[in-house]
Amino acid sequence: MIEVKNLTKRYGSHCAVNDISFRVEEGEILGFLGPNGAGKSTTMNILTGYLSATEGTVTINGHDILDEPNEAKASIGYLPELPPLYLDMTVREYLDFVFDLKKCKFNRAKHIAEICKLMRIDHVYHRLIKNLSKGYRQRVGFAQALIGNPPVLILDEPTVGLDPKQIIEIRTLIKNLGKHHTVILSSHILPEIEAVCDRIVIINNGEIVADDTAEDLSAKYSSDRRMLARIAGPEKDVLPLLKSIHGIADVAVLGEKEPDVIEYALEPNDGADFRKELFAALAKAGRPLVGLKSMEMSLEEIFISLTREARSATIQKGGND
Ligand code: ADP
Ligand code: MG
Repeated sequence: MIEVKNLTKRYGSHCAVNDISFRVEEGEILGFLGPNGAGKSTTMNILTGYLSATEGTVTINGHDILDEPNEAKASIGYLPELPPLYLDMTVREYLDFVFDLKKCKFNRAKHIAEICKLMRIDHVYHRLIKNLSKGYRQRVGFAQALIGNPPVLILDEPTVGLDPKQIIEIRTLIKNLGKHHTVILSSHILPEIEAVCDRIVIINNGEIVADDTAEDLSAKYSSDRRMLARIAGPEKDVLPLLKSIHGIADVAVLGEKEPDVIEYALEPNDGADFRKELFAALAKAGRPLVGLKSMEMSLEEIFISLTREARSATIQKGGND
């Protein structure tokens, strides 16, 4: 349905999205999760044809977004991070305008009325958008995306700035839309994605660090037998060493936790107890093992550890973008 292949976007010398690939199947609700600045909006703007990629391809319903932009775009309803609302229009004027812009072929009055009912904006239909609350403006933005009944919905942080009640409403709505649409939903909030999505792609620093169902993510990262090891020394020396240990099937690098100390998640081979072998191998190579514990992680912890690098960079910069 949606295929993203080797997508890269550079702004000048800054690489915002670095060689990412993923697929979204028909009818799936995909969560695109990552901290602020991870590259979510950039990716979504490329997916929807609003921004060109530096490298890579995007196909929507078999149509390449560059080669056949009209066909590809006709399949997409897009709710950008900042919905393109005209504040001096009424809801009615605005939705009429979008209807024309999309060259929509449905019965105008009926189609718009259905969407307004679904979004529960029928009672503000004649109000100016600038006089609507943030929650209502977001629903109008949503309504705009639904015009033309596109099979694919791309929603960029649709609940940002809403109150808890509105957030639950929007989540319920997205779940319902997911029954008849393919949806990509971005968020920097894990519980949001967990509540709504079938599958989660985690993006950090412009790279995909996980692509799995919530259950598989938890199973992968939080089995009893998995161990977290903190080892002093450069990754380039330690990683091959870890991979050479018989009892270890897989190694994930979780990043630098203390100066010169890197944390690794170690997956055993068939439940093997590799602790002694690990200790001996590291001692022989002169790489101190400074911590070892079994992993029992929540999805929240998995997300934090997979995205920690960006978070610590953010804290150092002193901002939250
Ligand atoms: P997210 O939506 O995940 O918060 P963005 O895709 O907005 O992330 O941004 C990814 C990175 O690209 C950030 O470091 C951001 O500062 C940078 N970036 C985004 N848009 C531009 C732009 N127009 N020019 C230069 N850098 C940009
Ligand atoms: Mg964004």
